[in-house]
Amino acid sequence: MRYGSDHREEEQLVKIASKLEKQIRQPRCKVILLNSDKKIAQLFSNCRIVLSRADLAKAAEIEAKAFILAHEIAHDVLGHTQSEHFLKELNQELEADSFAYQLLGQAGYDQIIATGKIRKILLFEAKENNCNSCLIRAHELLKLVLTNS
Ligand SMILES: [Zn+2]
Repeated sequence: MRYGSDHREEEQLVKIASKLEKQIRQPRCKVILLNSDKKIAQLFSNCRIVLSRADLAKAAEIEAKAFILAHEIAHDVLGHTQSEHFLKELNQELEADSFAYQLLGQAGYDQIIATGKIRKILLFEAKENNCNSCLIRAHELLKLVLTNS
């Protein structure tokens, strides 16, 4: 049943998000899973995290899902705003990755596994969509692992 499994996946995401947030504050983020073929992972006001099934398809493992959620929670905690400016945007992405890395550790997720999965996804995006910021994020994530282990 398609809708049944959707619901279960959303429930799993809500649980992960709440586990992550409890490390830093009272949970307030809402996870909304979209049935969309477009890759969407975006934060809206009041910490509404909107993810599409297409975006989540690449993140089968729980650590990868936890990283994606931790990254969006980090944007909210750090008060990031949407920016059209490449460098500001990139800087916010790197800050969110770094915050997410620490948060995953605090919540008991394996940071090395999570980072490895996300780096694979970023490197794929870099190659597939010519995404320069993806390449930089993958590189910085590797540095995070190396300096923290
Ligand atoms: Zn981001």
